[in-house]
Amino acid sequence: ALMDIDIVSVFPEYFEVLNLSLLGKAQAKGLVHVSSHNLRDWTHDVHHSVDDTPVGGGAGMVMKPEVWAECLDELLGLAPQEIVETVHETAIPDNTDDIDDASVTEDADVAKHADDWPVLIFPNPSAPLFTQADATELSRKQHLIFGCGRYEGYDARIPEYYRAQDVDVREYSIGDYVLNGGEVAVSVMLEAITRLIPGFMGNAESIVEESYTGDNALLEHYQYTKPAVWRGMAVPSVLTSGDHGKVDRFRRDEALAKTSRIRPDLIEALDCTALDKKDRKA
Ligand code: SAM
Repeated sequence: ALMDIDIVSVFPEYFEVLNLSLLGKAQAKGLVHVSSHNLRDWTHDVHHSVDDTPVGGGAGMVMKPEVWAECLDELLGLAPQEIVETVHETAIPDNTDDIDDASVTEDADVAKHADDWPVLIFPNPSAPLFTQADATELSRKQHLIFGCGRYEGYDARIPEYYRAQDVDVREYSIGDYVLNGGEVAVSVMLEAITRLIPGFMGNAESIVEESYTGDNALLEHYQYTKPAVWRGMAVPSVLTSGDHGKVDRFRRDEALAKTSRIRPDLIEALDCTALDKKDRKA
């Protein structure tokens, strides 16, 4: 397959739905291969427990590092670490992918982002937002491993440990709200990523001109289909004029106006030098 996807969860049945629809077809075509695993398979106690009370007190339960590590060592093909020789307090960095460029040599940088390295991804509501740019980057990788959190989340040393082993670890939020578990978040990310794999969509062009896509991303213009007049509402007349230049300009203006109304933050982020005069006027 072009991409191997491992998903670890305490509800692996949740991912049976991935056999349906486009992702199911992509699996049948051999473009992607998805395996979902039950985290409890890596427990050794009779209760198959994966969580424990929070150190420092507080409500709820936290996912235990030992179980996750046995599972992830296996999926990553790392030898399990038997003895921990030094004990140190972990300092959790704020952001995962903004490694200080100056401190990383060119070669190390390339190696760190090689497409055939597995990427370990933890959904987490208190992480940076998952974006279309992340989906595009991850669609080029050959092996993605997702770890679904539950309860109050997972022990913070888990991602920290694998980063220290030079694994490419990402933590992403899919939005400013709290879900019960990572399963839905993984499904969301997976759908955004896999539709960008070459050959996945029937019409490759349909993914080039979309919202959030490209360097100077805007929200997409409004879309209309036939009939040209429906319940007394006509589509904008320029769209039926047959003048492609005018249609493009109209759509571009609409996209700019719509984006400044709904997502002014995207307009703020635009590189003005890449805009033409007419864009700036709009
Ligand atoms: N105590 C955590 C907090 O306040 O940040 C919330 C934990 S949540 C109930 C349990 C799990 O659901 C998380 O570990 C994560 O895997 C997943 N999750 C919940 N909301 C999410 C979001 N917006 N984006 C990504 N994952 C989310």
